[in-house]
Amino acid sequence: MIESAFYQELLAMMPGKVKAGELMKKHTSWRIGGPSEIFVEPSGREDLKAVVTYAHTRELPLTVIGAGTNILVADQGIKGIVVKLGRGIDKIVTGPDGIVAEAGAKLSRIAAAARRAGLGGFEFTAGIPGVVGGALAMNAGANGSSIGDLVREVSLLSLEGEFFHKSREEMGFGYRTSVLQQEPAIVIEAAFACGRRDKSEIQKEMEQFLKRRKATQPLHYPSAGSIFKNPPGDSAGRLIEAAGLKGLRVGDAQVSELHANFIVNLGAATARDVLALIGKIRETVLGDCGVELKLEVKIIGDI
Ligand SMILES: Cc1cc2nc3c(=O)[nH]c(=O)nc-3n(C[C@H](O)[C@H](O)[C@H](O)COP(=O)(O)OP(=O)(O)OC[C@H]3O[C@@H](n4cnc5c(N)ncnc54)[C@H](O)[C@@H]3O)c2cc1C
Repeated sequence: MIESAFYQELLAMMPGKVKAGELMKKHTSWRIGGPSEIFVEPSGREDLKAVVTYAHTRELPLTVIGAGTNILVADQGIKGIVVKLGRGIDKIVTGPDGIVAEAGAKLSRIAAAARRAGLGGFEFTAGIPGVVGGALAMNAGANGSSIGDLVREVSLLSLEGEFFHKSREEMGFGYRTSVLQQEPAIVIEAAFACGRRDKSEIQKEMEQFLKRRKATQPLHYPSAGSIFKNPPGDSAGRLIEAAGLKGLRVGDAQVSELHANFIVNLGAATARDVLALIGKIRETVLGDCGVELKLEVKIIGDI
């Protein structure tokens, strides 16, 4: 157990922004996850730098999350300090040919700002519930585009507490991956390039994307979006459905009846339930068609 002196010191540094034992299920779209020893919601970059430097000098484990829409947090919770980037680090500025957005800005707010400014590029994000930092770490994408395609430059904070920049090339974007998955650093802000586009065309396209999502995804249940990455040339959902696994349940975790690559929480699912279900899916799909499904969702904490 982390020393309570650490909690007291951080609380003194950032009054009102630090909690002990905060349940992570309150911060994940799956509504799953045990307590974090220390939970911090910094209200700006200097707060963030202070907590990162604090964790580094005391050798405390540090986990950064955004909207918590692509993570499975252990039932036992997360050791050390969890930093959530959202409100306070979520400024969005539109320019004539691009947008600058801070790590905690929701993709939906950026897409709305882009539409109002007549800037095209963010339409594909319609319905993706994350914020900029998580979206860049995951290179979130849909409808044939990914967020990395729009990036000009990213401002980051190292785990030692130093600010630095990376170009799009240096970010190493690939299918649901970026260099941050191998070389962890914290996204602070990103500059995106956008083209001019008619506002009503932007609106129309986003409405179409949302309509398709509502028809094909189980949005009325807590989930974390797609569980597995699509294997080359195929779709994970198709393979899982072909294996007859739609509706399969472990506890309150269920393979969605609507979209087989979603695991939904029917009410009281635990991380243990979800992992057991993931194991069954992988085993069956491997046995049936020889494909090893790879997780898209990130597991955080000791499972
Ligand atoms: C209903 C639903 C639909 C979805 N649809 C899609 C989709 O179409 N396409 C898609 O790609 N995804 C989709 N997702 C998954 C998810 O929304 C995206 O991956 C999203 O971009 C993750 O952002 P987040 O802020 O929630 O990240 P989180 O889940 O909070 O974090 C994800 C990862 O990023 C890291 N991270 C978070 N913030 C930072 C930061 N500031 N700096 C460095 N690392 C950071 C975390 O440590 C973690 O490893 C969907 C999810 C749901 C629930």
